[in-house]
Amino acid sequence: MEAVRNRGRVALVGAGPGDPELLTLKAVRFLEQADAVVYDHLVGSGILHHCKPAVDLIFAGKEKGNHALPQDKINALLAELVERHALVVRLKGGDPFVFGRGGEEMEHLLALGIECEVVPGITAACGAAASLGLPLTHRDYSSEIRFLTGHKRTDGDYTHFENVDLSRQTCVVYMGLTILPEIMRIVAGTANNATEPVCVISHATRNNQQFRTGTVETIAALLESNPVSSPALVVMGRVVHALECNLAWSALREASQGREESCFR
Ligand code: SAH
Repeated sequence: MEAVRNRGRVALVGAGPGDPELLTLKAVRFLEQADAVVYDHLVGSGILHHCKPAVDLIFAGKEKGNHALPQDKINALLAELVERHALVVRLKGGDPFVFGRGGEEMEHLLALGIECEVVPGITAACGAAASLGLPLTHRDYSSEIRFLTGHKRTDGDYTHFENVDLSRQTCVVYMGLTILPEIMRIVAGTANNATEPVCVISHATRNNQQFRTGTVETIAALLESNPVSSPALVVMGRVVHALECNLAWSALREASQGREESCFR
């Protein structure tokens, strides 16, 4: 009983897509108070500056092909840290509950009777959309948003791509860059999707953000000759047309850097 009374708690905190200014106030407060922080590779630099100097800072990794710590080790680590620390923050890129395995970590902690809470973060799709001026819904183009994983389902197939209909949906693919040609082949095969627009956004909201646009049938070849690096999102659907209109907006924004006061007052 004694150990349980002294046990700390875990907060699964979303760090947003990279830009440190896209942290929530609640995330900052938890980081300032945390005794231990377990963070993954998608957490943007600048965000850990909110931690106290004496914090126990642990990198949990999770880059494709470079798992610093496997999931069961992360689960065990959190359970162990909470025995020594009052507040353990598990800091994850974007939102903990969007392709972040936050659900699995929470289930594991709760099964051990460990107090656990979740602080949402801005998911990469929303961060990327905002920084390009690309709305995810638009009355003229899309009445539905889908977030899909580029990973195969546990049963080993991509059936979640088979009912994509880009004439009315915006589909955002997470973890889809390396498998993009296969995904585009599946999507092109249904619902007249082949000529619908696609935008691939890499390092969204960071200084090295880049994007490429094409169509379902052209984007894979375009990326082959002009690649981008991970992390990257694939946004498919007619909202990408709005991006073309908004390039004027982006140019205006870039031109205004350093003189925001006169431009945006
Ligand atoms: N929980 C995270 C997603 C983790 S899955 C979230 O809510 O955003 C990892 C995938 O997220 C990456 O493979 C990439 O597809 C996407 N991603 C995360 N950060 C990104 C960024 N800054 N720019 C582009 N894609 C990003």
